[in-house]
Amino acid sequence: MELFRLTAHELSEKITKQEVTAQEVTTSVFQRIETMEPKVKAYVTLLKENALQQAETIDQKIKTGEKTGALAGIPIAIKDNMNIKGVKSTCSSKILNNFISPYNATVIDLLKKQDMVFIGKTNMDEFAMGSSTETSYFGKTYNPWNLETIPGGSSGGSAASVAADEAILALGSDTGGSIRQPASCCGIVGLKPTYGRVSRFGLVAFASSLDQIGPLTKDVQDAALLMNAIAVYDNNDSTSVNIPTPDYTKSLIKDLTGLKIGIPKEYFVAGMDKEVEQSVREAINLLEKQGAKIIEISLPHTEYCLAVYYILAPSEASANLARYDGVKYGYRTPEAKDLLEQYEKTRGEGFGPEVKRRIMLGTYALSSGYYDAYYLKAQKVRTLIKNDFDEAFKNVDAIVTPTAPTAAFKIGEKTDDPLQMYLSDIFTISVNLAGIPALSMPCGFTRNKMPIGLQIMAKHFAEETIFKVAYAYEQNTAWHKEKPKL
Ligand code: GLN
Repeated sequence: MELFRLTAHELSEKITKQEVTAQEVTTSVFQRIETMEPKVKAYVTLLKENALQQAETIDQKIKTGEKTGALAGIPIAIKDNMNIKGVKSTCSSKILNNFISPYNATVIDLLKKQDMVFIGKTNMDEFAMGSSTETSYFGKTYNPWNLETIPGGSSGGSAASVAADEAILALGSDTGGSIRQPASCCGIVGLKPTYGRVSRFGLVAFASSLDQIGPLTKDVQDAALLMNAIAVYDNNDSTSVNIPTPDYTKSLIKDLTGLKIGIPKEYFVAGMDKEVEQSVREAINLLEKQGAKIIEISLPHTEYCLAVYYILAPSEASANLARYDGVKYGYRTPEAKDLLEQYEKTRGEGFGPEVKRRIMLGTYALSSGYYDAYYLKAQKVRTLIKNDFDEAFKNVDAIVTPTAPTAAFKIGEKTDDPLQMYLSDIFTISVNLAGIPALSMPCGFTRNKMPIGLQIMAKHFAEETIFKVAYAYEQNTAWHKEKPKL
């Protein structure tokens, strides 16, 4: 049996019943990595020895009847902007190329408590800035559905690893779409939780008011299981919200009777790919057949989302990335005659072009004389965007849209035109600005057999509603069962 093909819930059952061992599962995943990795290049660091040791310890626990976590023995891949003690955290940047984390991110501690196995760290756009995983210092990641296309980004390595069965589960981070858009491109499930639901402690900051960690999985049930493990209040993150962790698997019921689903007219606009629109419309019809009430709604400030995001995210990034100056973390230029030159050369040599562009944009928007016109104005419009959602959720339980305007595009197609690249997130960014949760799941394929993503949003801390809609849809479709032919 090809264990690497299975979901976490399928494997979990086998491991608990002692039909297979954690070591067998881990070995199977590493065999898959060996054959696929030369083509997909999803990982920047592999932790084979550690992983097999972890698996052995877990098998011992299970054998002796010691209590283990719900996801015991399941191999998981971690985006390279989350800290694992003693392991490199590079953010796919030259500037952190030699940085070894001295501590665990909270999510890592939580997964350890579940007795999960860490397979490795996945490739990403440098500092999570991008939508294609093409800006990594370590080279590109390739979409398993077509190696000439991008896997999405910035969590492209995490998404590709799950789609190619090089990992059973993965964690990504999402600041403007970086979990959902790669999930959409790779035909898997990805959830950006409510801001404050999952601790950001130990996640390298990009834009702190938008960043959130979440699961990338083969199906909806796996996403619910992983959320059970990571959606825990954390004292170490001042934005973590202290409310109990629900059992998200309880929301996995098929019935949508009476549920009100809003379809925002601003999300079905010219420029969207016809095949994407058709698949999403068909998905909406299916939800209606399952008992949901479909209501057209309006989110009037949608057109400002991209502009607001590209002021606020770079502003926060310019502050967050000020710490990489060659003194404390990572790379330091080998030759500098004084401290100022050391700062300048280290940053000049250590950051890639997209990161530099963001730092310059952000520094400009925050500079005196421009602050009111750009940063402050953007903050005000952000509130209007959030208010749109608050209004909408007075009348509907969930909102359904496409995840991205197109399926995965060709490698190199948008690298020379940052604005075109930024447009990939046109449907995902509003969710981060409003702080609400949203999930992407497969809802069809293009003629060229590239996956299309459906986005489901709900109000703050209503991940359970999202899981309900997603599970009902998944149970009546077979998109998630299709695998890339590599
Ligand atoms: N693609 C968006 C950006 O480039 C979002 C990235 C993210 O969510 N980390 O900023």
